[in-house]
Amino acid sequence: MRLFESKYFQLEQLSDGVFGAISSDAGMTVSNAGIVDFGDFTLVWDSLASELAGRDLRRAAEALTGKPVSILVNSHHHMDHTRGNQVFAGCQIISSVVTRGLIQERMARFQSETVNFPASLEKTQTKLSLETSAIKCKILEAQIREWQSELEVVKTLKPTFPNVGFQHSLEFHGSKHSATMLEFAGHTGSDSVLLIDDEILFAGDVVLEKNLGFMGHGNPELWLETLSKLEGLNFKTILPGHGQPSDRQLIPGMKSYIQQMLKLGKTVNSPDDLERIEIPEQWREWGLLEGFKYNLGFLFERDN
Ligand SMILES: [Zn+2]
Repeated sequence: MRLFESKYFQLEQLSDGVFGAISSDAGMTVSNAGIVDFGDFTLVWDSLASELAGRDLRRAAEALTGKPVSILVNSHHHMDHTRGNQVFAGCQIISSVVTRGLIQERMARFQSETVNFPASLEKTQTKLSLETSAIKCKILEAQIREWQSELEVVKTLKPTFPNVGFQHSLEFHGSKHSATMLEFAGHTGSDSVLLIDDEILFAGDVVLEKNLGFMGHGNPELWLETLSKLEGLNFKTILPGHGQPSDRQLIPGMKSYIQQMLKLGKTVNSPDDLERIEIPEQWREWGLLEGFKYNLGFLFERDN
């Protein structure tokens, strides 16, 4: 029997009372979320990319745990993890102090940019009609889906920010589970993870599965250090910010992706190279293919 039906995600039980909401990539959400039944309260980890996806997530959490959601956590400021916040009004919405500021900044910029979205969509559609490379068509098609979903999202968006802030670490103790939230950085200026019972790690976007994770809001060298720190923690299962839950092997895989990206970044000598360098074969079926060029561009700008 399916636990809860949503077109935005599929639920996966990770242990007793701990669930992952794994993106089905139906257009309006791309990231994963988590649900923890602590026994006496229910916590939701990240709110997905839109009001509609967030609404399904809240309903799923309440159906699975039999309790209203009392805490929502935002792992970091990216909007695919925070724009569902508005359906959690009335909950404690927790993030690091730095993340709260970054969410506010990002949201203000997003709202000032919305006026340009229809033109950007049209431009991308024109580009696609002229493109012949299969991989570039795939990237442009993904961008078009993205623009179309952004135009839907803005119609009902009510910016909702965290109302509880923490620095460094925060503990949760319930009758069924205990968990520690730890603040790191690297993917962005502040990235939180949640370690549940030394068994499960909700990693946010610090750990991704088969995804060309975006580096432009962080520091890849620091990201590698953070991953080494995560390797020192005790747990068996990881819920990544994107992709399928897996075991600890995701961490060395993630490090190797960042290291390879840094190496490729050093081969960019001019902006023209960004068009020339092809996505390595082993990454071509991954998510966020457009991240490849963004990341190379970011590394080139930063180092030149
Ligand atoms: Zn992110």
